[in-house]
Amino acid sequence: MERTHRLIADAMLGKLAKWLRVLGFDVAYDRSIENQVLVRSAKIEGRDILTRDRRLVQRRWGGSIRFIVIEDDHLPNQLQQVVRELGRPPRKQVLSRCLRCNEPLTSFRRKEAAAQVSPYVHRTQKRFFQCPSCRRIYWRGTHQKRILNCVKTLLAQDRSGQRETKRETRRSP
Ligand SMILES: [Zn+2]
Repeated sequence: MERTHRLIADAMLGKLAKWLRVLGFDVAYDRSIENQVLVRSAKIEGRDILTRDRRLVQRRWGGSIRFIVIEDDHLPNQLQQVVRELGRPPRKQVLSRCLRCNEPLTSFRRKEAAAQVSPYVHRTQKRFFQCPSCRRIYWRGTHQKRILNCVKTLLAQDRSGQRETKRETRRSP
């Protein structure tokens, strides 16, 4: 894909938004957003709209807005649909955004991280990152590995979603 697509997800697609952020997509999301505001933000910020709501697409909004109608309720299928239609962002963008705020993370000095993370984490990690919006500190540890394994599983599931989950209900972390 040529550039990272800028996306905005409707209020029903919070989980999908989060997992797309893991992959490095720029996805705005606000769980209390109303459709009018959603469409206005999409126009102003040049974002394509991810939605489960077909009626939203059929309304006359004026201007050119691109909708991506998510066909399925099942998270793995939703994630796979977006990747199929838009491609995956470059690998270096994986986990480069705050999963809560969608902000791109910036480097954070290891010295200063000492006051904010556990001594163990500080001792074992070399690089730290921070979200400029919520100030949360990130590092590449076992937690990130777990997230990456999860996203791999989500992308590998077949369309029924049952081969890998063995009919159990999965919860995202
Ligand atoms: Zn944040």
